[in-house]
Parts: sequence; C-alpha cells; structure tokens
Amino acid sequence: MNLDELFKTIKESGLRMTSQRLLILQALVDSADTLISAETLLKKCIEKMPSTNMTTVYRNLEALENLKLLHKTTDAKGTALYKLICSNSHHHHIQCIGCGKILTFDFCPIAEFQQIAEGKRFRLVDHHIELFGYCESCQKNREE
Ligand SMILES: [Zn+2]
Ligand SMILES: [Zn+2]
Ligand SMILES: [Zn+2]
Repeated sequence: MNLDELFKTIKESGLRMTSQRLLILQALVDSADTLISAETLLKKCIEKMPSTNMTTVYRNLEALENLKLLHKTTDAKGTALYKLICSNSHHHHIQCIGCGKILTFDFCPIAEFQQIAEGKRFRLVDHHIELFGYCESCQKNREE
C-alpha cells in the first residue's frame, strides 16, 4: 500500500491529516516490508520532528489499526510490532524472527483445511496463518 492509497482511505474515514500523522505514515511506508515496534517508529519520527512523543505514535497506530490499515503482531518477547498492510487482497506472510523482515505470499493454503472442515460439517469462516523463520542475512549471522 502506498501513500496515495493510504491518504485516500484516511480521508474517506474523516480522520484529519496532521503533519505528525503524515510523518508517522511516511515512516511506516519507508519500512513497509519490515515489522517495527512503536519505539523504533518513534525514533524515526523524532529524527524529523523532535516534538513527536510516544502518545502521538500510539494514538496514530490505534487509528490506523481501526481503519484496518495496520498489520499487528508480537515478537517472541511479547513486544507489539507493526507494519502497514500490503494490499487489500487476501495473502499471508513469513516473518523473520531475527530482524522483523516480512515476505508476502499471494498464496493461501486454506483449501485443504476447508475440505477437512466441511467433511466434519464445520463451516470455516476465517483463519490466520503466521509463518516464522530467519531471512537470508539472519541465517548467515546465526552461523557465524
Ligand atoms: Zn501483508
Ligand atoms: Zn532477518
Ligand atoms: Zn489464507
């Protein structure tokens, strides 16, 4: 999802576009393929606007989450990590445990589960599949 699409969705929602919101959105777009914590996001914003504070960051993340524009997950230590959603179409991710990098799959393996569920007279309506691993550079770092 690019800035134009984001603007459009935010505008349609009636949310005001403040300079700080813009800054936070830009930082999220810049790290669109990596999960980042609210703290990292704050650091990025402070570089450009020193007055940014954690409350503002959290409030904006919450607003984006409510608009379903944010993908939220937690790392092994329980820290919340965020990234903008990639697209509106259904897809899955594999997440690097080492650095938070995300790879997107435009592929959904749910059909087989669906069949099994239907066989047991269960109607499947939703699913979440999260894959975890190490990206190429994190694999190398671990070998060293
Ligand atoms: Zn995605
Ligand atoms: Zn990695
Ligand atoms: Zn799926």
